[in-house]
Amino acid sequence: MSAELSHEVLDPATEQHVATIRLTSVEETDTAIQRSHRAFQEWRHVAPADRARLLRRFAAAVDGAREELAALEVRNSGHTVSNARWEAGNVRDVLDYYAAAPERLFGRQIPVAGGVDITFKEPLGVVGIIVPWNFPMPIAGWGLAPALAAGNTVVLKPAEITPMTAIRLGELALEAGLPADVLTVLPGKGSVVGDRFVTHPLVRKIVFTGSTEVGTAIMARAATQVKRITLELGGKSANIVFADADVEKAAASAPYGVFDNAGQDCCARSRILVQRSVYERFLELLEPAVAGVKVGAPGLDDTEMGPLVSAGQRARVSAYVDDSVDVAFRGAAPEGPGYWYPPTVVLPRGSEDRIWREEVFGPVVAVLPFDDEADAIRLANDTEYGLSGSIWTRDVGRALRVARGVESGNLSVNSHSSVRYSTPFGGFKQSGLGRELGPDALDSFTDVKNVFISTED
Ligand code: NAP
Ligand code: MG
Repeated sequence: MSAELSHEVLDPATEQHVATIRLTSVEETDTAIQRSHRAFQEWRHVAPADRARLLRRFAAAVDGAREELAALEVRNSGHTVSNARWEAGNVRDVLDYYAAAPERLFGRQIPVAGGVDITFKEPLGVVGIIVPWNFPMPIAGWGLAPALAAGNTVVLKPAEITPMTAIRLGELALEAGLPADVLTVLPGKGSVVGDRFVTHPLVRKIVFTGSTEVGTAIMARAATQVKRITLELGGKSANIVFADADVEKAAASAPYGVFDNAGQDCCARSRILVQRSVYERFLELLEPAVAGVKVGAPGLDDTEMGPLVSAGQRARVSAYVDDSVDVAFRGAAPEGPGYWYPPTVVLPRGSEDRIWREEVFGPVVAVLPFDDEADAIRLANDTEYGLSGSIWTRDVGRALRVARGVESGNLSVNSHSSVRYSTPFGGFKQSGLGRELGPDALDSFTDVKNVFISTED
């Protein structure tokens, strides 16, 4: 296999060879899109209860393969096995959740003169899903489950470097009885397969998760075909700790709000804002909490943080923490092979510092003090991103005021949760467009059709 047509998967924890993946060409992508388009003509007419049953069977197949999928993700992506198990379980849950949708894709009946007016939620056609390397399984599931439930067919491109679980999910769909070409997984390059999804006229919608840079380019190019898009882009989310909070709990949990998945998480709370009166105390508590994060072999049950995904990502993260950056303290990381980077806490000089403004996408968190509630909201919103965030306070009125004040799609109070399959997820400002998960996602995979029926003689 020539180098351009294949990708060698390396285990991020050991740098050992895992597999050689054949990459899909433009011609093969075109063929797959044509076949997907043909399969759409049948899939959209599968009876709602049968489509629901097939999705539940797919969920059961994923559940049966949970350990296998988790092990693949550990080796391909360096995810901790506890995270990878959750990720496979999340695909199962999202499939189960949207399996209820085919039978509940309600339209409306609208009062009009001279007849009956009804609306239908019609599927779009072939949906192209472009997945990044940071959460290969969940992000695939969040796109494909509601897309298929609504009657669309799917072509899905995993990130070039993390294709293994997506390939297995494609096989499981077939094993569960989904018809051929309803879900097609195409491992390959963004510049080849992903680009063809965007330019091919039979792909009616793009679901893209990844960098803001590629996302904005996709949005501009999709415009030429009025192609529907959902974008989930970057983040630089704030974890706001007020003096009236349970400061011990806030400090103990802060590392897990940013270092989970080695910080390669668009929801990472990578800016910690602490009210000035408890700033020193918070840092004293944060230091042992960071030192306590268990960094190491991702296949061990109690490991909390593994390596970065690739040598390139480690170089990108390292470049952010140069001599101009004041490192307060660091956690541990193994020596030797593997793309390791220790959990790192930095103290910027102010809110203009690059480390405070740009998405690092690694285990690096910056901490700044603030004066009062208005100052906290101003600092939190001083970014083009708006994906997630946390608010720590015991004052319920303040929690709600600040939650309404922060320009972000997903906020949690006294916790760091962002994602539940039954609630909407997505970004404000340049963090994205549209919503995934929950009841809202189905609207992104259907167009409303209005039909008037005359009742006149
Ligand atoms: P990226 O380039 O945006 O990649 C995301 C996905 O888009 C991958 O599947 C990629 O394929 C594909 N892609 C790339 N160029 C494309 C094009 N011209 N047309 C269609 N698809 C294309 O992200 P990255 O380079 O892997 O990571 C860079 C930075 O982006 C990270 O450091 C991080 O800051 C951010 N990021 C954010 C998220 C998030 O969840 N919001 C996820 C990943 C990365 P290939 O894998 O083949 O390139
Ligand atoms: Mg890229």
